[in-house]
Order: sequence, then structure tokens, then C-alpha cells
Amino acid sequence: MDTITSIFREKKLKLTPQRIAVYKYLQSTMEHPSAETIYKALQPEYPTMSLATVYKALKTLVEVGLVSEINVGEGNFRYDGNSSCHPHIQCMSCARVDDLSGVCFTELNETAKQNSNYEIISNKVYFYGICSDCQKKQKDITSN
Ligand SMILES: [Zn+2]
Ligand SMILES: [Zn+2]
Repeated sequence: MDTITSIFREKKLKLTPQRIAVYKYLQSTMEHPSAETIYKALQPEYPTMSLATVYKALKTLVEVGLVSEINVGEGNFRYDGNSSCHPHIQCMSCARVDDLSGVCFTELNETAKQNSNYEIISNKVYFYGICSDCQKKQKDITSN
């Protein structure tokens, strides 16, 4: 909470209850929810908050760098309360998105630079596979 308070103060932005609620929700989950999922999850506690407000709060949080926006190739964005640089992996069976820790791609920027003459700022790498839950389910089906 200290981070969001000081960052918003620094940027001279209003720390509205909606913005805090969206930020707190993202801090509490590892599931990389979409705006719709966040909206539905906050409905019981914030019945007057509209989907548009959730989108606006997300936009502001992304702009100040507290939240990152990820797109694994679906029609919409997912949001991540972990704003540190880390790659993502999506299950091709159930569509969940997990963080992939312990893998770093900064050296890839150097390779890209050498091959393109660009000054490389960042890169986004997404992995696709089958999560352990889905692997188990598949094994259960084949063993029955
Ligand atoms: Zn899965
Ligand atoms: Zn993440």
C-alpha cells in the first residue's frame, strides 16, 4: 500500500477507492485476470463500480508502472500486479497464465540489437504449454 500511496502522490494523481481496490485485487492474485474478471470479483464489495471505471483504473495503474499489461494472444489484455520484468507461460488447455520465474531474457536484447541495428528497449516472450493440472487430467483420461 505504501508504494501506491507514494507513487500516486509523486505523480499528483488522485488515489480513489476504485484505483486502490483494483490494485489490491491484483496484488492478491497470481492469476493474471482480465478487466472483466477484476470487475466481477470486485462487484460484491463495489456494486456501483462500472467496467469502464475498472478499465480506467487499470490504465492509470499501468501508466504509473504499478501494474503491467500482458497479451498472450487472446482478444483482450490480462493484468499483472507484479510489475517486475518476468516472462509468462499460458496453458493451451485451460488458458491459465502463470509467471515464469528464474528465466531472464535480457541477453536476448543484445542478440536482437546485433541482428537489427536497433537500440533494443525491451522484449516480451510468452511460452505456451500444458499446465501440471491439465497434464494430470490428461493422464487420468488415458488411464481409465
Ligand atoms: Zn491447464
Ligand atoms: Zn506475471
